[in-house]
Order: sequence, then C-alpha cells, then structure tokens
Amino acid sequence: MTAVESQPRSTYDGVRMQLEAVAARLHLEDDILRLLAQPYRELRVEVPVRMDDGRLEVYTGYRVQHNGARGPYKGGVRFHPSADIDEVRTLAALMTWKCALMDLPFGGAKGGIQCDPQLMSEGELNRLTRRYTQNISHLIGVTRDIPGPDMGTNANTMAWMMDAYGQTHGYSPGIVTGKPLDLGGSYGREEATGHGVALVIEEWCRENGREPSETTIAIQGYGNVGFWLADQLWKHNFRVVALSDISGGIYNRAGLDVVALEGYMRETHGLRGFPGSVPLSNEALLALDCDILVPAALGDVIDEHNAGSVRAPLVVEAANHPVTPAGDAVLTDRGITLIPDILANGGGVTVSYFEWTQNVQQYRWDLETVQRELAKTLLRAYAAVRDLALQDGTSMREAALDIAVGRVARAIRLRDFV
Ligand code: NAD
Repeated sequence: MTAVESQPRSTYDGVRMQLEAVAARLHLEDDILRLLAQPYRELRVEVPVRMDDGRLEVYTGYRVQHNGARGPYKGGVRFHPSADIDEVRTLAALMTWKCALMDLPFGGAKGGIQCDPQLMSEGELNRLTRRYTQNISHLIGVTRDIPGPDMGTNANTMAWMMDAYGQTHGYSPGIVTGKPLDLGGSYGREEATGHGVALVIEEWCRENGREPSETTIAIQGYGNVGFWLADQLWKHNFRVVALSDISGGIYNRAGLDVVALEGYMRETHGLRGFPGSVPLSNEALLALDCDILVPAALGDVIDEHNAGSVRAPLVVEAANHPVTPAGDAVLTDRGITLIPDILANGGGVTVSYFEWTQNVQQYRWDLETVQRELAKTLLRAYAAVRDLALQDGTSMREAALDIAVGRVARAIRLRDFV
C-alpha cells in the first residue's frame, strides 16, 4: 500500500480502515469483513419545510442502517450543518460497535438532517421533524429501527417523532427513545450519557489511585452530555476547571462552581462572564494543562494538527468520534491514554435500551433500578475492555473494537444468512 492509499479519504473511510485492522487482529473471514465494511442500507430524503416567513426551505435528511445482525437498528438523529452522508454513515457504524460492546440486543443506525437548529423557530423544527419522520417511516419500527436524540435534538424532538409515526401506525411509544417522561420516557435517560461518562472516569481514577479533589478536568461542550457530566463530576468532588460551548469557554484553575454556573446559565443563557472565571477559546481548552480532557461536543476536533498540543494524560471521548485516526496515532505515540467513545458514552444507548424494554413491556422502572442497571452494564463493559487491553497489550480503543466486532461477527455466523 502506498502512503496515499493508507490515508483515509473520508471519515467513514477511517472507520473502514479501523475495521480492517480489527479483522486482521481477530483473523476474521473475508466474507464478514466485506459485510461489515459498508452499511446495509442508506436512505436520503428531501425534507421540505414551510418557514415562518412563508419561504419554502428544502433540507436533506438521512437514515443509515449499518448492521442489524444483533437486533433492531438503533441510533440517534442529529440536526447539525455537518450532518452529511459521510458523518451519518460513520456514526451508524459506531452505533453497531457500541451496542455490541454494551451487549445490548441492537444493531447500529444513525439519522441526520443538515440544518442549523439554532437558526430555526420551534414551529419550524416541529414541521421539519414531522416531515423527516414521515419520509423515513417505512424504514423504522419498534422491532426494526428505533431512533433517539443526538446533537441538536432532544426529548421534544422525540415527542414529535413519536406523534408523527403514531398518526399512521397507532400508539407506538417504543418507536423512539429519549422521550419526555410523560410520553413513556425512562427515568434517568436525559442524564444517562453524561452520568455514564462520569462513572467511567470515576472507575479509571479509582483504579489509578487518583483522588477526585486533586483531579482537574476540562470539558468541551455544554449540551446534554457536557451538562450532566459536569454536574455529576462536581457533585463527586472533581475539579472541573474548564467548560465550553459553541461560543467559547470559561476557565478557573481552582475549579468552577458547576451548580452556581447552572443558575447563571438559566439567567444569561451563556457561559461568558461567569463570576470567578476567565474566557478560554475552544482550541485553548483542548490544549489545557489538566489531568483529564473530555471532548463532549463535535466529532473530529482532535486531529494530527492539534493532537501534539494536548497536555492531559487521559482523554475521555464523551462525543462520538472526537479524535480522528491520525490524531489518535499522535496521542498514542505521546503515551496519552484514551477511553474510546463506544465505551465512554455508551450510557446513553444503554438507558435508551432500558426505555425501549419498558415501552415494550408497558411497565416503568424506578430511577434506582435504571441507575443500578446502567452502572452494572457500563462497568462490565469497562472491565472487559481494560482486561483485554492489558492481556493483548493494545490500546483501549483497539480492545473495545475487538470485543464489539467479535460479537457482531459471531451473530452473523450464527444467522448463517449468506
Ligand atoms: P447537544 O446538542 O445537546 O450539545 C452540543 C454541545 O456542543 C453544545 O454545548 C454546543 O454549543 C457545543 N458545540 C457545538 N458546536 C461546537 C463547536 N464547533 N465547538 C465547540 N462546541 C460546540 O449535543 P449532545 O447530545 O450533548 O451531544 C454531544 C456529543 O455527544 C455528540 O458527539 C453526540 O453524538 C455524543 N453523544 C450524545 C449522546 C446523547 O445521549 N445525547 C449519546 C452518545 C453520544
């Protein structure tokens, strides 16, 4: 292979090359590799929306089903300007691996609409969501493909999706997860991803003899994941020294008072100017001198150009695909430990699975049960990854992928459909 051929041409190409490396480590059959190397099904839909000012805007939406050998497809829907087919395809494959690593009976999928939800009114987002749901409704189903929230979407979006789907298919709460509690959502779902990341960080610190009060953490992204992560870390005595959103970040070397910040945000709707903090750019946050760096916003934020300036000895991928393969190679060369996305942020899809099972059974679990089962599932996956990485002398990303892809491959062989 020449140097040019060994460079990924797209983000999905990077995922495919990662899979080839797993296949070589696991000695996977060529047939299985060929099945997993591309998504099973990809749908592109036009999503026309009448805007508040009377104009017609036509958005592009996608639903990609990567692999369903282990169960119905599962994956969030992202509303973001960068949500093109390459990004959605990449995230769908990550969902296949994540569901398998968490040992959930789901395959992997992802949806997206290329739009900027920050520039749209509530009415426009409602119409966008309903039209998208109609246009993908022949692919989704309670036992076929179950969407959930992701960047730019939330419990409201899921309520609209459930309602739009129910208009033609009847009452179907199990068609989406991440719903509001009043519509069949699960206790603990909203905070599940952030709390799951916190669980993994706490476990790593416990095993590595790190005291929370002496551990400084920088978090990029203060949306659903970043908010609940910071909240939990603060309550467990960690020092969250930096936080950011799309408009920039804030820093306090002694640690931000996260609960006071939540109150400040409710009043000002922004991080800027929080008493006791100084402004910090998103680029500077990634290069901050701290113990743990947590990218919890966009993908591809750490690449070969800035991985050299990361100073934290541990990077925890709360976002999906925040570190490119080239960035990963630089971090590994520099001896920086990385806890990969399919492990670190697996709490979200785990509680989505709990929500779906509650919907299917028409029964509600209490918060204590959800939290106990989440911790059990996530820490079991963490221990399996840590043990395999130690045994094989691989990175935690390689170990996580080896476990996940191995499970999917076994399901494909058992089904024996080719
Ligand atoms: P969100 O939309 O609630 O929040 C995203 C945050 O990122 C916001 O604070 C936003 O201001 C910030 N952001 C956006 N663009 C940015 C930029 N260019 N630079 C810096 N910050 C920027 O999204 P979320 O649900 O918190 O998801 C965050 C990440 O976590 C995504 O990668 C998502 O795929 C992943 N994830 C989410 C869940 C979940 O349950 N929500 C589950 C697993 C993984």
